[in-house]
Formats: sequence, C-alpha cells, structure tokens
Amino acid sequence: MTREKLAGVLPRAALDTGAALEQIRPVCEDVRDRGAAAVREYTARFDGVDLATSRVPARALADALAGLDPRLRAALEEMVRRVRPVHQAQRPADHVTRLGDGAQVTERYVPVSRAGVYVPAGLVPLPSSVIMNVIPAQVAGVGQIAVASPPQPGHGGLPAPAILAACALLGIEEVHAAGGAQAVAMFAYGTADCAPVDVITGPGNAYVTAAKRLVAGTVGVDAEAGPTEIAIIADHTADPRFLAADLVAQAEHGPLAACLLITTDPGLAERTGAELRPQVAAARHRDTVRAALAGQSACVLVDDTAVALAVSDVWAPEHLEIQAEDAAGLAARVRNAGAVFVGPYAPVSLGDYLAGSNHVLPTGGTARHTAGLSVLAFMRGIHVVDCTVTALAAAAPHIDALGEAEDLAAHVAAVRIRVPGADLGEHSASLGASPRTPRPWNPPVAQGRVGQAPAEQATGQRDATGPPIRPDLAGRSPYGAPQLDVPVRLNTNENPFPPPPALVQAITEAVAGVAGSLNRYPDRDAMGLRAELAAYLGHGLTARQVWAANGSNEIIQQLLQVFGGHGRAALGFEPSYAMHPLIAGATGTRWISGAREDDFGLDRDRTVRAVREHRPDLVFLTSPNNPTGTGLPLAVIEAVCGAAPGMVVVDEAYAEFAREGTGTALALLPRYPRLVVTRTMSKAFALAGARVGYLAADPGVIDALLLVRLPYHLSAQTQATARAALAHAGTLLAAVADLRAERDGVVDWLRGRGLAAADSDANFVLFGRFGDSHAIWRGLLDRGVLVREVGPPGWLRVSIGTPAEMAAFRIALTEVLDSTQGGAAQ
Ligand code: PMP
Repeated sequence: MTREKLAGVLPRAALDTGAALEQIRPVCEDVRDRGAAAVREYTARFDGVDLATSRVPARALADALAGLDPRLRAALEEMVRRVRPVHQAQRPADHVTRLGDGAQVTERYVPVSRAGVYVPAGLVPLPSSVIMNVIPAQVAGVGQIAVASPPQPGHGGLPAPAILAACALLGIEEVHAAGGAQAVAMFAYGTADCAPVDVITGPGNAYVTAAKRLVAGTVGVDAEAGPTEIAIIADHTADPRFLAADLVAQAEHGPLAACLLITTDPGLAERTGAELRPQVAAARHRDTVRAALAGQSACVLVDDTAVALAVSDVWAPEHLEIQAEDAAGLAARVRNAGAVFVGPYAPVSLGDYLAGSNHVLPTGGTARHTAGLSVLAFMRGIHVVDCTVTALAAAAPHIDALGEAEDLAAHVAAVRIRVPGADLGEHSASLGASPRTPRPWNPPVAQGRVGQAPAEQATGQRDATGPPIRPDLAGRSPYGAPQLDVPVRLNTNENPFPPPPALVQAITEAVAGVAGSLNRYPDRDAMGLRAELAAYLGHGLTARQVWAANGSNEIIQQLLQVFGGHGRAALGFEPSYAMHPLIAGATGTRWISGAREDDFGLDRDRTVRAVREHRPDLVFLTSPNNPTGTGLPLAVIEAVCGAAPGMVVVDEAYAEFAREGTGTALALLPRYPRLVVTRTMSKAFALAGARVGYLAADPGVIDALLLVRLPYHLSAQTQATARAALAHAGTLLAAVADLRAERDGVVDWLRGRGLAAADSDANFVLFGRFGDSHAIWRGLLDRGVLVREVGPPGWLRVSIGTPAEMAAFRIALTEVLDSTQGGAAQ
C-alpha cells in the first residue's frame, strides 16, 4: 500500500478550525481595538463573571498555594524536579562557524522577552499544563511570563485554585483571569492590564486554537493542539493488560481521542480486545472511552515490526508506545512521533506527568514536521556575522556575480566601496592574498588608565586573524588593578601589616618542613588544612564541610564551573566584586546584573523578586560587599536562600572586619544545603601573597567541586603556610581590630570633611561623591597615594592602611580637595 493510501485508511478525527476562525475573528479584533474593556465584556458574556481587571491579585496566588492539598503539592514539586533538568539539557549552546581567515558566523540563542501561557479550564483543571509550559520558558530565560486561564464563577471569578497554586509554586506572579479567544487576543495585542507578549503557548479548545492561528504572525505561537492520540506497536511479548490499560487511558481524554494498536500477532489483538471489555466497563469515564474506541480507533495487523514502524511513521502519532522485542532498537528507527515510550514500563501516563519529558506534543500527524514544546519555542538563534577586510575581499568576486545575476547593483557597490575590485585598478582575486591594512581580529585589550602591563607592550600589533579564542571572550578586558610602585598603596584591600616576625618564623619552618618531600604531590584533599579551617570557623563545622583553593577567586571559579557554565546564568547585585561577572564570563555563565538600593544595601523583597524573575543557577551575595563595604542583614540572605532555585554563594572575604551586629551566613548553613559561604586568608590573615581561599558548605557541594578541581591544586607550601598562619589567628585578629578602629576613624573623618562615606563592614571605605573622581584619584596619585577607581561614578575606594599611611591619605586628600574646586563633593 502506498503511503497516501495508508494515510487514507488510518483513522483520525477531523477538526474544523476554519469554522471557529470566523467566529473568533470579531472577538480578537475587538480586543485589539478596545483592549481591557472588550476582554471584560467577553468574560462577562462567555464566563459569566464581571471582572474590573483580568489581573489576579498576588494574595489569591499565595492563598491557593497555601490551600493546595499536600499530596498534590508534593507530586507537582516532584514533577518540577524532573521536568526542569530535562529542559535544561535542551538549552542550545551558542556556536561559531569559522569560514576561513577572518570570516565567521556565530549563532547566539536569545530568549524572547515576554511569553504568555494559556491554561485551559476544561472539566477538570490541569496544573500539569502550567508546569509543562512554564518550565521551558523559565529555562529558556524568558524575562516575563504571564499565565491566563478562564475565570471560574464558582471561585469568585478567579481561575481554578489548582492552576493558581501551580503558578505560585513556579514563582509566576502575573496571572490573568481570562479565557478563550479573548485571552489569546489579550496576549497578542496587549491591554491596559496585560502587556503584549512575544510568544503564546498552551493548549485550548477549538476557539483558542483558532485564535492562536489568527494572531500567529503578530506573535509566535506553539503548534496547534488537536485531539490526543496514541499508537502502540506490540508483538507477542506484550502484555495485553498493559495494552488495554494504555488504550483506555488515552481514550479517557475525550471522545475524539484516537487509539491505534499496531501488532504482528493476531492472537494479541484478540487478547487485548478481551482485556478491554472489563477495563472499559470499569472506567470512570466509560462513555467517553467507548466513544473514542468506537470512533477514530483501530487495530492494524501487520506482517512484521518493520511494517509496524512504517505504518506508525505514516500516521505520525503524538504518543508512540513500543511494547515488543528489542523495543529500544525499534525506537531508534522511529522517524515520526511526538514522543516514544519504550518497553512495558514506560506508559504514556508516565510521560503525561512524571517522565520529565514534555507532554505538549504534536497531534494530527504534525509530528511529521513538528516537535513537542521545548525551550526552543521561547528562544531564537541570532546569526552574528564577523568579517575582516581580507575575508570580505575574498568573498567579493562571488558577490559581484550574484548581485549581477539578481540585478542588485547596489548590493555589489556596498561591498566594493569597502574592497574595491578590478574596476578600481586592483585585481579583485589578488585582494584575498594581499589585503590592504587588515583590521585587527580582536579589538585591542583595554588596560587601566595607568599604562600597559609590560607583557601587552611587548606583544604590540596582533596579526590579522589572531589566535582562535572563544567568541564570547573576544573584546573582554582582563582583571587589571594597577600594580604601581607608589609609597602608599591603598588600592587592593590588602592587609597593610606584614605577618608578625613570629609568624614569619613559623611559616619559614613549616615550608622548610615540606621542602624535603616536594618530589611528592601534596595532600590532594588538604585534609589537615580543612580541619583547621573548620575549627577556626566554628559553627560546628567539620573538614567535610570546608574546601580550600588558591584564593577565593579559585573557589569562585570552581563553583561557577560546577554550577554555572554554558546555558546557565548567575545573578549578582552591582556594584559588587568585579571578579564575579568576570569569572562567570570565563566559564561561559551568563551574568545577570541586579540593582542595589541608593544606600548600596539590598531590599529583601526586591531582591527576592529579582531571584524569582530570573531563576538563576547561582546567586552571588557579597557581605561585606566590595567596593561599597556594606554588610547584608541575615534576613536578606535567608530570604534569597528560600527563593533561589539553585546555589546561593555568599562571598564573605571581609567577614572578620564586620562591625558588631553584622551576622555571618555560616549560621544559616545547617538549614540551606545549597548555600555556600566563601572566605579568604588574603585579608584578615595578612596572607594575600600565599593565595588561600576557602568555603563552607554542605559536603555534597564539596563532592561536586571535586569534579572540576585540578589534581593537587593546592601546593604543599601553600598548605603549610596557611596552617602556620591559622596557628597565629589570635595575633592576626588583634591587628584586624586595630584596622576596624582605623576604618571607623576614616569614615568619621571623611564625613567631617563634608564628603559622603558608605557605612563599612570591611577594610576599605567607599567615599565621594566627586564631580570628577578621576581628577581626585590623579591628585592623590601625584601625592604618592594610590586609591581605587571602582564602583559607581563619582566614588573612590580607599583600603585601610597603617596609621601612617592613613595620615598620608588624609593629608593628600585635604590638599587635593583644597586645590581642585572642580572635583569638590557634589
Ligand atoms: N571576594 C571579594 C569580595 C574580594 O574583594 C576579593 C579580593 N579582593 C576576593 C573575593 C578574592 O580574594 P582572594 O582570591 O585573594 O581570596
């Protein structure tokens, strides 16, 4: 039988969306023209409720979640736990194709800004539909997600409580009580209550489907959802009880559901028929099931499984179960299906709820060309074209020919104005070999204002193509705090006091102690050091909960390598430590910049909202924060831990400098297994040169870090040095107390001078505000005092030095302020 003939005999319900289209057209046009007033009228007419606004109040969402049956809540949470990673794995990575010297195309995947998800009400609300549509949008990184679902007169005109609860569970804050074509039009055109969206997804009745078809083009829409369907390929090994149960389960969706049993075994067909009789009779929705099985359903007898596969491919089912010998081998040969369920223990019902796969699948044979709902419904690939003059010259002759053939002379001219060809005296073919001045492939790397580092000076001009670095790194600036030889260096937040002589002696002996065994690799897991760090931190921590590396920068890098990476995102609140976004970028992690309040603090509710909105894989909180010095109340950290879907990293590099009353996130560790607190020995322990950073977290986090740390990353000398310093913690912390007092004095002095100084819990102070902060910085440098130009415009940061250094700072700043009126504080 030919494919066409076969397609003609296989049953499937016909849907006439065309008729519905004519009915909903005036509704959609009215909503387009009159907005919220029209939505209100249609809601009153079709749903029987009069709603002043479609927007569901936040309280109703919270109440619905609070009132959700705990069993259903646990099931929905498990569903989320499974669906999210499957969709995270779908996120496409940006990729670059090099097409010869200097020509390349990067495909960059970007989420849409706003999506509208429609959730039908039907006879029974389907909270699973919320999860299957919202999670791909969230994973794609869509900035705003709005949900619409028909109002229920029985629920005060709100959508069904289970739908609201599912929205609240996923952190969705914008829900509209609107249904049918008017809801689709509201999403597409926007109303006073609901901004227009870029993409609409979600199933619905014939009117919703027709409305989506009408607005497609104005917005993106997902595939049209028709009646659900199943095909089962089965042989003699299949259990007829399972087959009958799966056919009944599919048929209970509605009288138009289609069920196809394709089998090589006539006996199985009979046994399944016999099983169906009692199962149908016992079904809760037996009338619906009977209608579906008697309607567009059939049993197809085939000679072998190869023919079974061919029949299924022609029908292109939404769901295909394979219950036959070598089910996995057959599944690998399927060409057309929405989803394939392999073997006796992967029924479609698992896929509807808990397989982790998406249950929004193509119906009506559209599986021939369309996939189920995925993150790609909410993303677009953007081609980014890079081309050097050399590469353009090489392509130009072909553009000449194509432009000529298509009579688009201006196209040719737009190229030739850049790379003149034979008509301008140069033979175009030779241009590829000997171009005029080539444009550097990378823009020159920006250095600080104070000259270039010697390495860069020596490199000089780069060649036209440059080394083939990752495109997302091109044009980035390396970390580059100026290392200048000036008398008073107050720019890198170092501890100004060198290690005391007794500690220098102890370090010397400790390093000498390991020098004799440097032929061996060091303790790979640094267990001794970790135990001593745990004892220093207190809070009942043990070595299993502490990890150490070369500076807390390496700790941050390891965290981003494990929990971030391509396709993942980290959120921080700026201004903050510049290495967080830099290391995120180096690991391919997308950086999301959140905002601080005017006093550089974080408002709890705004911060939690940002976390809910972006759903980052990591949140960075810095307390005390660099460069502002501000500490974070534990209540903010705790609220973020409660809201964050992934890891929360609290960078406490300056913890020892905090004032009384500023708590440490270490206290929260027992309650939040995804919380990580990072610390360093660079500051309080006066050990910046030794490079020792560490963290405290759940042992599971540390096990994860082992996956990325380099073997033997912490040298024997480093471990020995750190342990010697820890033994002198008492002396070192006494010096920290002196620095704290000096800092408080500097803050008072600056404020006394009429300047602004941010409250500081760290060993530095952010001060300003200057009309021309660079002039102030320069003036201080001219007087031998180096401070740091970081943070918001108009501010400078000074690290706390020795009393003598701070006296020099005060004298220099007084002179500069007295001499520069232009730089005076604003
Ligand atoms: N976190 C913050 C907030 C910092 O300011 C710094 C260094 N200035 C670090 C981490 C990194 O410190 P290290 O790598 O020396 O441990």
